[in-house]
Parts: sequence; structure tokens; C-alpha cells
Amino acid sequence: MNRRELIKGMSMGAALGSFGFIQKPLPILAQAEESYKKGSAPLRITRVRSILTAPRSARLCVVKVETSEPGLYGLGCATFNQRAKAVAVAVDEYLDPFARNRDADNIEDIWQTAYTSSYWRNGPVLNNALSGLDQALWDIKGKRAGMPVYQLLGGKCRFAVDCYSHASGDDFQELEDSVKRDMERGFRHIRIQLGGYGSLNLSKNPDFRGAGFGRSDDRHMDAYPYLKSTPKMFEHIRDKCGDQVELLHDIHERIEPRDAIKLLKELEIYRPFFIEDPIAPEANDYFRQLRQTTTVPIAMGELFNSPHEWVGLMSERLIDFIRVHISQVGGLTVARKIAALGEWFNVRSAWHGPGDVSPVGHAANAHLDLAINNFGIQEATRFNDAEFEVFPGSPKMKNGFMYVNEAPGWGVDIDEQKAAKYPLPEFQGYWKPIRRNDGTQVRP
Ligand code: MG
Repeated sequence: MNRRELIKGMSMGAALGSFGFIQKPLPILAQAEESYKKGSAPLRITRVRSILTAPRSARLCVVKVETSEPGLYGLGCATFNQRAKAVAVAVDEYLDPFARNRDADNIEDIWQTAYTSSYWRNGPVLNNALSGLDQALWDIKGKRAGMPVYQLLGGKCRFAVDCYSHASGDDFQELEDSVKRDMERGFRHIRIQLGGYGSLNLSKNPDFRGAGFGRSDDRHMDAYPYLKSTPKMFEHIRDKCGDQVELLHDIHERIEPRDAIKLLKELEIYRPFFIEDPIAPEANDYFRQLRQTTTVPIAMGELFNSPHEWVGLMSERLIDFIRVHISQVGGLTVARKIAALGEWFNVRSAWHGPGDVSPVGHAANAHLDLAINNFGIQEATRFNDAEFEVFPGSPKMKNGFMYVNEAPGWGVDIDEQKAAKYPLPEFQGYWKPIRRNDGTQVRP
């Protein structure tokens, strides 16, 4: 008997019973009463552990949550490329003992209690660990229900996830070629960057290097060449690639707030789809001025970890796209609330989706994208063969759209033997310092 027949039978039985037509409960009602007593079969968390692997170059951290039902487990993304091993310790040494023997069904309760279990909270290491646990519980919930996670979130609002690609080049011609290649691959939205973020290394011999300040591999960026070349870059690409393609650009927070305000005003005539991270999170208060000065759509938030960073920007309608990295903010449980907040304030989603998100994390992005009305755009990455080998069921790209498969949960598995073939690189990774000509550090 399916669920619909069961409910129909229950309401008929209740109606008849209330008029006194029957003495004994219908068999179907008896069955329902039995099921009220039992609830769904209890499912306990038996182990939470991290799996580190690097099938491309990023240091991926995936969390596996095992349960009291043999063979039933879930996967979640906890990737923090620059501090991968710190997240693994947070998972294995702290979240595992916290979560063991808890009811795997109670995702919200586990999220809330795990979030405050360190007392101090909202940092990237602990949030990523929490995301790994949280996303794995959603995966388990989907497997229990026999449904992909997007179905648990209300079903599809669109047939697939429209994505933007990354085009870049060291000069205008290289960039133009890169944009045209992506247009041929079917992308309708393309992010354009000239010479890396902030046109890095425009001068090979900054004075700080000559003075022996910092280390010889510290990088150099001065704001003026970047501020001068970026409007010209937009002009060139609009001229050569037409009006139809949507153009995006990431400032990556490397300039002063006042320069960002001036730059966005200059870019207005090229109709960017959005300009990303114009201001560092520490200078969030400048968004009011930025907003009053320009109509260019603003995307913000890949560095955010804490609700204090995004709630005001969204509720005051100071940004157009919320760009958080779902594992950095603590997983699907918090990201779907961010999406709901955005719906009331006309803020659309643009979840961070670079190479240092595991395929499990990209699947989480895509399932949420499918299920929310205020979806904006999704950043796409291209998985290599090794990633498809380690993570069977990873989302696939076609014609600029991302597709998830219809398997229950995220639809993505991990082959742990193959994952072990790709250990983390020796160098554990950090953002190399970027400096102005005089050696002053620039926020990345
Ligand atoms: Mg970015």
C-alpha cells in the first residue's frame, strides 16, 4: 500500500468512525496507529570521519557519516583547501565523538547543537567540519526517502542549473579567444579576468623586492594598472563578442573601497551581469555608498563565515547576489535559510563553486540551485577524469548547464581506494602574500 492510499484510508476511517458507523478500526487505521507508535525506524550515527584526497590539485576533504543500518552512509563536503588537515582534526577528534549515537534523522537539531558545541563558533575550520556532517545527514535523509535531495527541498524550479565559466588571458586577444571558446561550449554567462586577479605581476620588479622586504616569492599588485585596464577589458570584449553574452568579473577585494565605487560606475555602460567581491568583508559598511552610486549588480560573500556578515547586506538590499561558499557557512542547513532570506529581499544565489569544492559540494550547490526560486547563477568547474573516478555520480556539464543525477541523496559516491591513490600534495597550501610596490599587504 502506498502512502497516498494509506492517508486516504485513514481519513475515510476517521470520518466513518466519528459517525459511529463502525465499532472496530478499519485494518488500515489499525496499521496507521501501529505506525504512529513506532515512528520511522530509528537510525543512529555510528561514526563520522574525514577523507582527504587531491585528484585534481585542491586538497579535498569529504566527511563520511556511517549509521546503525549496515551499508547506509552519507557524504558531505568539508573542503577548506588552505587548512585541509585542520578540518580533518575537527571532524575526527571533535565531531565524531559529539555525533556518535545521535539520531541521524534530526538534522536541524544536530546542526544547532554541533554549531555551539565548541562554544566559540563561525570560523572556517569548524564551519567546514560542520558542513561535512550536515551535508552527509542530508545525503542519508535522501537515501532513506529514496529521493534526490532537491526533492526533499520542494522539487525542481528549473530543468538544470545555468552556470558561468571562467575566461582569462594575459592580454585582450588571449582573453577574447578564451571567451569565444566558452561561448562555443554553450555558456551564456562568462567571467572575464585579465592577467589573473587584479592583473597581478604587472611589474616584475617592485621596489619591495629590491629592498629585500618580504620573501622573493611574495606577489605584487598595484591598483592603478588594474583600475585602468579593467574598463578597457570590458570595452574590448563587448566590442568583439557582442551584447548577448552575459559578462561577470571578480575584483577579489584587492582595491580600496573608494576605487571600487569609481570602477563600478565606469563599468555600468558595459552592462555586467554582476561584479563580484568589490570590497573586503572587513569594509562591509561601504556597501551603502556603493549602492547609492551605481546600478551595477553586486555579488558578495565568498569569504563569509558568519551570519553577521551577510544578514545586514541582504536585509538592507545592498547586494544582488549572495555568493557564500556553502561548506564555509556550515552546510546545506544554513545555506537554504540564506536562500530563503534572499527570496524576500530580491537577492539571488550565486554559490561559490571553484575547483576547491569537492564534487559532493558541487552536487550540494546544484541540488539547492534546482529547488529555489531565487536562483541566480552557479559558478561551474570542470572535473577531471580522476575526480569522476574517485567520485562516481558527480554532476555533469552540458551546454553551460549543470545536471545532477536522479539517485537518492546527492547522487555522488566516493571510491575510497581510488581516493587514496591521490594523497594531499606535500605543500599544504596558503595564499601567498600580495603586496603593493612599497610592500604593504593587500587583502586577497
Ligand atoms: Mg571570487
